[in-house]
Amino acid sequence: MFKRVLLKLSGEFLAGESGFGISPDTTAQLARLITGALEGTEVELAIVIGGGNLWRGARNGEGMDPATADYIGMLGTVMNAMALQDAMESAGRPTRVMSAIQMAAVAEPYIRRRAMRHLEKGRVVIFGGGNGAPFFTTDTTSTLRALEIGADVVLMAKNRVDGVYDSDPRKNSDAKFIAQATHREVVEQRLEVMDATALTLCMDKGLPIVVFDLFQDGNLRRLLEGERVGTLIQT
Ligand code: UDP
Repeated sequence: MFKRVLLKLSGEFLAGESGFGISPDTTAQLARLITGALEGTEVELAIVIGGGNLWRGARNGEGMDPATADYIGMLGTVMNAMALQDAMESAGRPTRVMSAIQMAAVAEPYIRRRAMRHLEKGRVVIFGGGNGAPFFTTDTTSTLRALEIGADVVLMAKNRVDGVYDSDPRKNSDAKFIAQATHREVVEQRLEVMDATALTLCMDKGLPIVVFDLFQDGNLRRLLEGERVGTLIQT
């Protein structure tokens, strides 16, 4: 059983069929899935939410100052964090949104020790605003926050992909599932887990990563209880 975990959700988990924007229905389903998995466990959960359903600096900001484009992306993640908070609280779970970019009217500022205190009190902490710095992604935020709050593991949630393969299983029917790998193997074999900056940080600090299918029934619950699900990456 893990004590404290960090769950990384891409922004697309909040989008409906179109893959764009925030769907309240989809977000409500997601929130029920997460709160259901947590129920009755003592696990402390922190979430880093991405923003790709709204804006990706590099893609949507073509022709703009890249830093400005990235700041827009970070603001998007706060919108997602608020939507997820709303849905999680409707599902009965107390939460706090903490933003790396000060936005006092809608979110607490990110203060590490305060985040840990919320977790100890059983609140789910949702980190918005990425790192508060451009030229990063929310994968790096997941690693950074996980290390800061002393999480046991980073859980990289995937949408109907059950873990890491040696090539893209959607394009290659011979793709082989990888149940376990070291950080170094992931780097050397260029396996798709998280972006390179985030992965390097995990490798340097020995932070374990699990890549798993969030929508396979009971997966998150089993993971929180310490069962092996998906692909485990550790040193
Ligand atoms: N972003 C950033 N710094 C960060 C985190 C995010 O500049 O620390 C920006 C970046 O433009 C990124 C966007 O926010 O493209 C959305 O985040 P991300 O692509 O990680 O979202 P996800 O793919 O997880 O939904």
